[in-house]
Amino acid sequence: MEMSKVLERVAEEAAQLRGAGMVMDYIPALAEVDPDHFGIALAELDGSVLGVGDWETPFSVQSISKVFTLALVLAGSDESFWQRVGREPSGSAFNSLVQLEHERGIPRNPFINAGALAVTDELISMVGDASGDLLAFLREESGNPDLEVDENVAASEAAHADRNLALAHFMASYGTLRNPVATVLDQYVRQCSIAMSCRDLALAALFLADRGFRRDGSALLSCRQAKRINAIMLTCGTYDAAGEFAYRVGVPGKSGVGGGILSVIPGRCAVAVWSPGLDKRGNSVVGMAALDHFTTLTGWSVF
Ligand code: GLN
Repeated sequence: MEMSKVLERVAEEAAQLRGAGMVMDYIPALAEVDPDHFGIALAELDGSVLGVGDWETPFSVQSISKVFTLALVLAGSDESFWQRVGREPSGSAFNSLVQLEHERGIPRNPFINAGALAVTDELISMVGDASGDLLAFLREESGNPDLEVDENVAASEAAHADRNLALAHFMASYGTLRNPVATVLDQYVRQCSIAMSCRDLALAALFLADRGFRRDGSALLSCRQAKRINAIMLTCGTYDAAGEFAYRVGVPGKSGVGGGILSVIPGRCAVAVWSPGLDKRGNSVVGMAALDHFTTLTGWSVF
């Protein structure tokens, strides 16, 4: 079946679920988003991209940003980074505090909030303006120079950051962070508040489908590093639903509470979906169903 037909079929199925789930409300600016949006985009290794629905409408990438900050950190550091952050699934909510004390301030993986704060801390040490560096990278890879931090979302998240502040202070007490908590939080909130469309996200993630090569042909990551990030996406990218995501979708994926899910099909393409209604674990209900349908129709699940 032609890929445009596949995406149309996926969108038709998704339309039956439209509006399912709850738009997240702990960041008030995101609670205002219309729950009926749905978009899906697929970018292939040659940079061609197609989509259906609201695939060119920007939304808040939230935790999907964690994939890209991890890639930038791994591209510029050595393996010693893994002494500060683990790489096992947490089985806990993305903003949970419980494991941090048991594991003496070392977050279980880079995609739960605690781990992502440690990644951002590392990127600040490497480049200073971590979110600015990330934005420049995303503009380049998506081919969209207009990408910006949504200042309204950033201000809203910064004003409701008690949980993330608690995680950061707790890690600081164990010496996991090198920069002041306020700086780490500010940069983390800004990276999460970047607005991108499905189109932008699918294009920006192509390096993960293409063995670490950027769109200009240069290598951001080694083949081994790209493989590893994909593995962490599969095992940790949807938090305490990573097992469910592997069961239903079966490819590396990373969700965000803005309702986006980015998935990578190594050697083939990157696919981004967006639908704002979330399940209890913070993953897009319609997005997950759409990706389930997509990998079933194409046979591209790794399983
Ligand atoms: N910015 C959000 C937070 O820190 C990201 C969470 C998410 O997308 N899962 O809570």
